[in-house]
Amino acid sequence: MRYVLYALLGILILGLVFFFVIFPRQFDANANGVIEQDFPEPSAEARALHAQLTIVDLHCDLLLWKRNPNERADRGHVDFPRMRAGNHAAQAFTIVSKVPASLITGKPSWRWDIITILGVSELWPPRTWTSLRERALYQAGKMHDFVAQAADSVILLKASGDVDEFIAARTAGIPLLAGWIGVEGMQVLEGDLGNVDVLFDAGIRMMAPTHFLNTELGGSAHDDPSVGLTEFGRQVIARMEEKGMLLDLAHASPRLIDDALSVVTRPVVVSHTGVKGTCDNERNVSDAHLQRIAATGGVIGVAFFKTATCGTDVDAIVRAIDHTVSVAGIDHVALGSDFDGAVSVPFDASGMIYLTDGLLRAGYSHDDIKKIMGGNALRVLREVLPQQ
Ligand SMILES: [Zn+2]
Repeated sequence: MRYVLYALLGILILGLVFFFVIFPRQFDANANGVIEQDFPEPSAEARALHAQLTIVDLHCDLLLWKRNPNERADRGHVDFPRMRAGNHAAQAFTIVSKVPASLITGKPSWRWDIITILGVSELWPPRTWTSLRERALYQAGKMHDFVAQAADSVILLKASGDVDEFIAARTAGIPLLAGWIGVEGMQVLEGDLGNVDVLFDAGIRMMAPTHFLNTELGGSAHDDPSVGLTEFGRQVIARMEEKGMLLDLAHASPRLIDDALSVVTRPVVVSHTGVKGTCDNERNVSDAHLQRIAATGGVIGVAFFKTATCGTDVDAIVRAIDHTVSVAGIDHVALGSDFDGAVSVPFDASGMIYLTDGLLRAGYSHDDIKKIMGGNALRVLREVLPQQ
């Protein structure tokens, strides 16, 4: 009898170690791969130009994982040391709160939420187990802690003045890094308009109406695309514009994008996407939408992963950038890697030079490359974020 108890206890301990230690680490390592490949050696011109750039990326999901970006991790794509190594300067850190299991299993009926399991395994506080709003506030809190630990070497962008301070530092040769906090899927509002203010007060400055599932605001490109913007969605967009928060149309259904573009008065972004012109699928953005987003003064962040670009190398990213430039114009293209977003990418944050080199090889001028790699995104942040 005693041995049976010992055996059960042993199994229990092994189970706990697996769930709380091995599972979150292994899930992260498996989901966020780098596709091994040989890159052409960047030219001397590319190296010189790259050193002068202020690179900005509109999307990563680091906050979802059990990692501190102040330490260089042996998995995933982005952290502050790798940003410094790659001269990558500013990064959006986006909050994920709910992901249906159907995404992994391929069974549309499996709608139970993976993030609940991942959050518990990463020891998120119990208030996050049942509340999507609390998941957002908890992850925003983590970002504030990470920036505080970085001791003035990383600035959190919450106002246009912060963007000015960041640009001034970079111009003066100070290698300051910047981050800002976004939300992927406004299910975190839990249907309450007042929560826009709560999330703003938590430092969140960019929000997307939908992620993989329809929300109270409207339809997701992955769920029921016949749903456009709801009345609640209209109210949220109006409130976001009053506060100075960036509207992000990544993952939105085409109808939602149409409806949102009809009501916005400020520049909008698509933080991480491919374009139908080089990779035609339900999630990627049409030429008509590229033009309408450009007309708001906004930017399209071209993503680095295969579902976005239909390729696994730098040239596929450059092709998507090329198409976006030709349709939306050189002032409306940005980067939206989707680092750490459960995707595999050709290079991590330390390898941004391969993109600079790829754009040079594609014939872009130095000025154009500065715009694509960060200048355009900084312009939109300065314009949309509140003054204080
Ligand atoms: Zn995403």
